[in-house]
Amino acid sequence: MRLFRCPTCDGIALLETLECGSCSQPIGLHPPSLSMRPAEPTGSRFDGQTWVPCSNRSWGCNWLLDEDDDASQCLACRLTRKRPDASDTIALEKLADVDMDKRRLLTQLLALGLPVTPWYEKDGGLGFDLLSSRSSNKRVTIGHANGIVTIDLAESLDDHREALRVRLGEPYRTMLGHFRHEVGHYYQWILVEAGEDPRLLDECRTIFGDETASYTDAIDQHYRLGPSRDWSLSFISEYATMHPWEDFAECFAHYLHITSTLGTAASAGLKLQAEKVPGVVRHDVEPRLTYDDASIDDILNDWHWLSLLFNRVNRSMGQDDLYPFDLVEPVVHKLAFVHKVVTLASGRRTL
Ligand SMILES: [Zn+2]
Ligand SMILES: [Zn+2]
Ligand SMILES: [Zn+2]
Repeated sequence: MRLFRCPTCDGIALLETLECGSCSQPIGLHPPSLSMRPAEPTGSRFDGQTWVPCSNRSWGCNWLLDEDDDASQCLACRLTRKRPDASDTIALEKLADVDMDKRRLLTQLLALGLPVTPWYEKDGGLGFDLLSSRSSNKRVTIGHANGIVTIDLAESLDDHREALRVRLGEPYRTMLGHFRHEVGHYYQWILVEAGEDPRLLDECRTIFGDETASYTDAIDQHYRLGPSRDWSLSFISEYATMHPWEDFAECFAHYLHITSTLGTAASAGLKLQAEKVPGVVRHDVEPRLTYDDASIDDILNDWHWLSLLFNRVNRSMGQDDLYPFDLVEPVVHKLAFVHKVVTLASGRRTL
C-alpha cells in the first residue's frame, strides 16, 4: 500500500489519516488521484471542482467527494448498501473499523485500475452489506452474490475471529482478507465469466476447473470429507480446494496481499542488498509500487525474498509468520492468471 503525503507540509500521511501529524492540516483522500488533499468543511478547490469531506468523517472516513455529486457520503460509504440499525450501537462501533478495511480494499482496487461500478448505478454493481450476526440474531454468511459482498461485523471481534480461525485450521484470517477474497468472486464473475472475451473463461476453466460444478455438492463434500491429503501440492489453502470459485477467490486475495505488501515496502524505500548479507539474499531485491508492467515471475521473485524477511521480523516479535503460505508451481500458474485478468481489466495489457 502506498504511503501518502500531506498536501501542505509533505509530511507522511497514512491511509486512515484525518489530520496531518506534523502541521495539523485536516486532510482527506481524493479518490480520482489517490492522493491526500486539504479537507476543509466548506470544501477545497482543485481540478476545477470543489471537494468536500464525507459526512461520515466523524466516524473516521477521510474520503472526499465532489460537491456536485448529489450525495453527502463519499463513494466508499455509498457502496455500503446495508448496515446495522442506528439503535445497534455495538455493531455500529465495529462498522467504523470494518469500513477502514473496506476503504483499504477500495484504494487498492482503484490503484490497480479495476472497475468499481456501484450497485446503485447498475444491477450487479459492487456493493457491501455490512451486518452483524451477534446483534441481529440472524445468521450472516460472509459471501458474494450478484455484486453484493456480505460481511459479518462479528468477525471484527478478535475472540470470535480467532476462535473460527483455530476451529477451521486456517493460518491467516483477517477482515481485510475476507474483503479481498469476496471481491475476488465479484471480479471473476464480471471480468471472466461475463467478460467480453470467451478465451479468458476457457483459460480460467483449464487452470481452476469448471466453475459450473454444483457449489452445494462441493460444500457438502468439503465439510463431510475434507480436502485430499496432498491438497497443498496444488492449492494455496484448504478452502481453495472446495470449488473452482473458491480457488480463484483465494488466489485473487493473495494477489492483493502480495502486491499491497510489496507496495508498502517500496514506499518505504526498502531494498535488499545481496553484497551486504552474502548468502541471505541471492541478488538485490527492490520492490515496486506497481507491478502493472511486470511478469508474475518478477512479482513473486521479489515476494519470495521479502516474505522471508517479513516472516523473520514477525518471529523476532514473537508473532506467527506474516505470510504462512507456500507458493507451489500450480499456485504460481493460478496467480499468473489473476495478474493477467487484473492487467487486462485495467487496460495495461491486451489478450
Ligand atoms: Zn502537514
Ligand atoms: Zn465516506
Ligand atoms: Zn468464497
